[in-house]
Amino acid sequence: MVGEFRSNGVNARFHGGVDFTSPLTDNSGKAVFSMHAGTAFVVYSASNCLNSYIRVRLQDGSDVYYKHIKPSSTNPVTNQSTTEISNNNGQGTPVQIGTFLGKMFGNLPGEGGCTIHVHVNQNTTSESLQGSTNFINRFVNPFTDTERTSFMYPFGGGGTATDNTSANGYKIAEFRMNGHSKTNPTNQLGESESINGTIYKYAYGKIYIVTRLKDVNIGTDGGSFGGNSGVNAASYAIINSAGVAVGQEVENLNFNTIPLNERGNYVFDNRSDQSNHVYIITNNPTATSGRYDQF
Ligand SMILES: [Zn+2]
Repeated sequence: MVGEFRSNGVNARFHGGVDFTSPLTDNSGKAVFSMHAGTAFVVYSASNCLNSYIRVRLQDGSDVYYKHIKPSSTNPVTNQSTTEISNNNGQGTPVQIGTFLGKMFGNLPGEGGCTIHVHVNQNTTSESLQGSTNFINRFVNPFTDTERTSFMYPFGGGGTATDNTSANGYKIAEFRMNGHSKTNPTNQLGESESINGTIYKYAYGKIYIVTRLKDVNIGTDGGSFGGNSGVNAASYAIINSAGVAVGQEVENLNFNTIPLNERGNYVFDNRSDQSNHVYIITNNPTATSGRYDQF
């Protein structure tokens, strides 16, 4: 899912596409078919699943990338021979919606260590594999993700999913001092008091709200497929002691548009890694002004 954190040395970066896999464990579960009509081109090395892909150029000139797959002359669903996608001396191979493109790499020795999946992203500007928009929003419309995002606690390690209506509510968000980021952890604001059995934290001055969120992978029916993807969006609201909302719900964290990778440092907490996403939800990763901090 767009927004997922990927470690890249000391810098945080966004996962610029959507990963799909299949519940089918035999070869037929590795088959990938085109979602668009267009012209297909292939970049393929048997030993390099990470950088192998099939690209479909659409009529509007944009490209859809199907990454970590390889061309094949046999459709593993039908076991029939088929036209293998090739570059045809630069002309490419015409494809329709539903044309067999190729097979996911099999996570085998010597292929480069990919787990079995296809990464899909769209790009309108160059050969870069980095997508520019949320693929689901761009091409699957309307799309409904029926699984609600879960809060996780504690923030480090494996953590436990905590429902957002839980009595443990206060544990699922931290309030940290101004300046908190992926590379600059700051002190947690620890003062709190109990009123009628509910613990309230003091919030004062300029603060960051930090929380760990988990969203499961999406199955072919729109429901849960387990695992953990980055979230697409998250919002927060502030309520007073009478339970009445103060101001509007704020949705700064929204990955419908892929932010510049440098902004990962302002959205991901320092405890984030590839499968453990801790977000600073008061920051806005897609702010056009370059002001990411929305405290
Ligand atoms: Zn991916």
